[in-house]
Amino acid sequence: MINYKTNDWFTIEKIDDTTSIISEYKHWEETHCYLLNGRDKSLLIDTGLGVRNIWEEVQQLTGNPVAAVTTHAHYDHFGGHQYFPEFYVHEAETEWINGGFPLTLQQVRDFLMEEPCDFPADFDVNDYYLFEGTPTRVLRDGDTIELGGRSIEVLHTPGHSPGHICLYEKDRGYLYTGDLIYIGELFAYFPSTDPVAYMNSIKKLLPLEVQKILPAHHDLNVPLSIIRELDEAFTSLHNSGKLKHGSGTFSYPNFGIKL
Ligand SMILES: [Zn+2]
Ligand SMILES: [Zn+2]
Repeated sequence: MINYKTNDWFTIEKIDDTTSIISEYKHWEETHCYLLNGRDKSLLIDTGLGVRNIWEEVQQLTGNPVAAVTTHAHYDHFGGHQYFPEFYVHEAETEWINGGFPLTLQQVRDFLMEEPCDFPADFDVNDYYLFEGTPTRVLRDGDTIELGGRSIEVLHTPGHSPGHICLYEKDRGYLYTGDLIYIGELFAYFPSTDPVAYMNSIKKLLPLEVQKILPAHHDLNVPLSIIRELDEAFTSLHNSGKLKHGSGTFSYPNFGIKL
């Protein structure tokens, strides 16, 4: 990792000359957004919590027009969408990002403040609102997003949420996994999650030629073996009849699965 930079909220790192990570390490969720610069256009994968203005960071990293895409419409992934008039969402979550999010504003604020965090001095949770808007492009499984010399494939990977997507950049072997895969406790217990769909989404990733897993939360050093480990864990839970809501939390060396 090169060109490390940090301010009172964001940390910026570069994966390569044209791909940056914008992280929110000062918050307990440790959310990561990714900026992909193509020849003609840039893509920001997720826009974070919206506690600070992410556009101020993005414009220092590219002069391109920028579109934002959400891996899924949970508040910690579209908090900064207000700065990006062009944004893309999977077809199953266009309502969620336009006022139909299934939690109340108070529940979201409670989530945001769940653990002590080093918020900017002028941040006030009572000023925190959920973005609402109509996407400029509705995504479906197998779509590609062209940036000029970079082509990003949309993989519909439901389970954590109905319209969750992973983004796959075959030329570089990068797999942006959102909340489907990260090191830590994986969530498949909300009413809007689907544990069996989650398992099938993991299986869909097995044949990909992945060189680097780029998660939306926590440790960036995700071992490639985690896809196979998750497949084994989910398949074993499925075979023993435990892959359903209310079964509890199951722990493994690199992750937990909360059902
Ligand atoms: Zn999520
Ligand atoms: Zn998340």
